[in-house]
Amino acid sequence: MSGVSCSLLGCAAVGYDDEREFELGDYEGPTARWCPGCGDHSVLTAVERLLVAEQLKPEQTMFVSGIGCSSRFPHYLKTYGFHGLHGRAFPVATGIKLHRPDLDVFVVMGDGDCTSIGAAHWIHAVRYNMNMVAMLLDNSIYGLTKKQTSPTTPRGFKTNTQPTGSYLPPLNPIQTMLGMTNVSFVAQTAEWIPAHLYATLRAAYKHKGLGFVRILQRCPMFTPSLYERAVKDPSLVQMLVHDDGLTVPELEKIYKDRAVHDPKDLDAARRLAQDDERIRLGVFFRDENRPCYDDIRRVPKVAPAERMTLLNAELDKYAV
Ligand code: SF4
Repeated sequence: MSGVSCSLLGCAAVGYDDEREFELGDYEGPTARWCPGCGDHSVLTAVERLLVAEQLKPEQTMFVSGIGCSSRFPHYLKTYGFHGLHGRAFPVATGIKLHRPDLDVFVVMGDGDCTSIGAAHWIHAVRYNMNMVAMLLDNSIYGLTKKQTSPTTPRGFKTNTQPTGSYLPPLNPIQTMLGMTNVSFVAQTAEWIPAHLYATLRAAYKHKGLGFVRILQRCPMFTPSLYERAVKDPSLVQMLVHDDGLTVPELEKIYKDRAVHDPKDLDAARRLAQDDERIRLGVFFRDENRPCYDDIRRVPKVAPAERMTLLNAELDKYAV
């Protein structure tokens, strides 16, 4: 085993023998410091399961986050990580993927992070459709900064910035995704249904292109009532099922409201997404034939010395 650490990124990764089988302990970092009962714990567990199942090399795996409770994610894994600026996870991740297409890149964002300050980056990352997994951990509130209205806060919900209740209808991230250019994979899951969460993340990982997963996430500190009824009553949740999408057989007895939805059908996906009568979980849309920017514009591999020569030659063009 060869040791490589990266204190700059706030995480440490190690190089392993190629033959070795990775176990949970190879990915688990320090104990997570989220509040007890926070849905982020469940997402971390599902991600660790995925890393083991896919045997991803810790030294070849990168988690990129912005700012928010969920953005502490990279600290709790032994892979590489970059805990960046609010709303800027996508540009960092796309830059990494462009230069290192061999890495498995995961983007972790909160609702304020992705759909407010990071919204411009969100639109273009979807259009670039690079081969990564993007997780939107949506608890419908700014949790880290203590209960301000976010774009996905339900109308009427009282927050510290809108104490009489949120004024506007919430932004629907799935509906928004389905209107974006070159979208290729859109799914929704819930952290309180671990089997569905894991299966969805795995499907997103296996997708060629940007696998975008909105994860409905409980924040017991600031939005404790948000999903309370749906957690207790499975009949309030509808599962979207299809052979080309997702089926989770072990959930069939509990979640009996099931709708067959072909994820190739974008119009049907849009209709399902805009109907907010019930919570729908599953793959809304998937198309592996959409162009991926990392396939089209590969950065050529050059030695560091040659790269410096090329860079200096470029800069010399502008010298005065
Ligand atoms: Fe989780 Fe909410 Fe606590 Fe943040 S404030 S760690 S989202 S429970």
